[in-house]
Amino acid sequence: MPRTVTLTTDFGSGSDYVAQLKAVLLGAAAPPTIVDIAHDLPAHDIRAAARLVGQACLGFPPGTLHLVVVDPGVGTGRPLVWARLGDQEFLCPDNGVLTAARGRLPLAEARAIAVPAAAAATFHGRDVLAPLAVRLIDGLAPATIGPPVAALVELCWPQPHESSTGIVGEVVHVDAFGNLVTNLPAGLGPRLEAAGRIRVGGQDVTTIVRTYGDAPPGTPVALVGSQGCIEVAVVEGRADHRLAAGPGTVVAIDDRAAAPASALQSAAGGGAADRLRQWDREHVWHAFTQMQEYEPLLIERGEGSWLVDTEGRRYLDGSASMWCNVHGHRHPRLDAALAAQAAKVAHTTNLGLSNPTTVEFARRLVEIAPAGLEKVFFTGDGSSACEAALKMAFQFWLQAAPPQPARTRFIAIGDAYHGDTLGAIGVGGVDRFTAMFAPLTFEALRLPSPGGPRPHGETPAAAAAGALAALERLLEEYRGTVAALIMEPIVQVAGGVLVHPPGFLRGVREITRAHDVLLILDEVAVGFGRTGTMFACEQEGVAPDFLCLAKGLTAGYLPAAATLATARVWNAFLGSHADRRTFFHGHTYGGNPLAAAVGLESLAVFRDERVLERLPAAIDRLRGHLVGLAALDHVGDVRQCGLLAGIDLVADKASRRPYPWQENRGTRACLAARRHGAILRQLGDAVVIMPPLCIAPAELDLLCAAAEAGIRAATEQ
Ligand code: PMP
Repeated sequence: MPRTVTLTTDFGSGSDYVAQLKAVLLGAAAPPTIVDIAHDLPAHDIRAAARLVGQACLGFPPGTLHLVVVDPGVGTGRPLVWARLGDQEFLCPDNGVLTAARGRLPLAEARAIAVPAAAAATFHGRDVLAPLAVRLIDGLAPATIGPPVAALVELCWPQPHESSTGIVGEVVHVDAFGNLVTNLPAGLGPRLEAAGRIRVGGQDVTTIVRTYGDAPPGTPVALVGSQGCIEVAVVEGRADHRLAAGPGTVVAIDDRAAAPASALQSAAGGGAADRLRQWDREHVWHAFTQMQEYEPLLIERGEGSWLVDTEGRRYLDGSASMWCNVHGHRHPRLDAALAAQAAKVAHTTNLGLSNPTTVEFARRLVEIAPAGLEKVFFTGDGSSACEAALKMAFQFWLQAAPPQPARTRFIAIGDAYHGDTLGAIGVGGVDRFTAMFAPLTFEALRLPSPGGPRPHGETPAAAAAGALAALERLLEEYRGTVAALIMEPIVQVAGGVLVHPPGFLRGVREITRAHDVLLILDEVAVGFGRTGTMFACEQEGVAPDFLCLAKGLTAGYLPAAATLATARVWNAFLGSHADRRTFFHGHTYGGNPLAAAVGLESLAVFRDERVLERLPAAIDRLRGHLVGLAALDHVGDVRQCGLLAGIDLVADKASRRPYPWQENRGTRACLAARRHGAILRQLGDAVVIMPPLCIAPAELDLLCAAAEAGIRAATEQ
């Protein structure tokens, strides 16, 4: 019996590529029977492919081999797998394309396919998967393909949720006949019948049928379809055209009054979740949020790069939970380190007292920090790490030998962000955050950011030189009165992902050293791998006088921060109690042992999982996606630094004219991206992509696809 091989691709039925795939397969000693499942899938639409593969895998003889080549990353180093689900076998990219099949057939075994170094013209489907299929057909033992794979990448399917009026879901797929396949499961059939209608987009579909045979031609109908979910169709017509609907269109059964206690509601704890959302609106004052417009979304769990809400909907954590998550949520080693420390002591003060874990953590930080940073002052968050550095720098000059009490000023960069406490906003330069509080704080001397938009034709080198010349002038003008310069090295994140021209940081270090001005580097957002190196300042070989760390310090697990300082600074604070040289500053939870335990383990994970070595591949992959995003009609400038990108939304691409700020396009894009399974955060009208460093290639693809969908939704109407 020849083996059956099915083919699913997005290359187009008549394409050369499909013909080449078949030619390779027919080269087997016992040529297989080839069945075309589909070749005209929307390009790169992994979801559509996954649904199709999920349906198609059921009707074939045992041992059928399904070859699936649908993937934006084909030919670019994408992980490939062989998998056996039930009695069916699959060869495909590990990009989530097996998600629906896995829902129907249990995963028996999976192996990573060893991929030879690819030439530029290599296509994984034709040059790797198809030849492997031939070898399997000719008797190759699957166990020899490569190492076992414990878990396959899963696509995140949107889940319906209870609203105050009923159940809300969405169209997830349009089939070849134009029928709208929704994510409302078959179990909701009785509710659909009881309600007597379903809303698709803004329109009511009132005719509910049991089979399409009962449906009057030309009228939209809804029914429980063969795919185990509610479908909307037009017999002798296309529902997608008739209702102007497609993937993402909202579908709702409004029946809350008629059937308050649904199966879905009780399964998902819908009632309890609604109550929590209400309390969230009433009692929780959210940061940087207009509470009058706030719509609650309650995240209950996290797994790796994913967040899961109270209704089980999954989202990629595209902002690394406010730029701090590094190795993913629920990392087993971090969880274990936290539990082990909790079993000893959760908190003791570091005001004149210590504990072993915190000491060890301080030592490790000194080992990995740039040269000369030997002293660690623990605080509680990024703002307080910067406050501590500012106060230390100020006090240093009072106690230096000889003292220089005139050094009371600070230089900061335009659009800088160093936190929200009063000292931090004194050096902060994002007006919309700080201007109102100006009377309460001091005013820093301001050096324009060389990371902002450059005048036409100005090179990065010229921008760096211009900014450094301005710094020289400032230091001349305020000679002997500047205590320190504070800056975010390499990239200013909160300012809008403003990437500095190469050489700027090194130049600042040289000039500040020449003028004996202390340099405070705020690596709260960029420390711990974000720019591709452990600390951003390593990229220009710069060691500051102070290094402020937070966020990734505990891999995004616990609130903790640290200000690292040099021995020169520390020595100026030494003396007897009576000398009054002590640093009178501290935070209750500074040096917290739970945070230290997780931070210590995170550094071990960096080493053992070779996190920094693996980053370039993710950074390149993000760069690839940004090319597509930059081409969108309403995207202006796109800036990337490491695994971080800012995408400017503009009203007019050619002139880069911004949208009126009141239109809030950035926020709208990020909210729309949630419907596509991603949590993103904006900075004004810039959409920021900043996932955990551990994000898998296929997850990064999904995240960028969701960002694109969100941007399109917010800008193309
Ligand atoms: N500095 C920088 C560069 C930051 O990005 C942030 C936070 N986004 C802070 C300081 C303040 O940190 P926190 O929110 O922990 O106070």
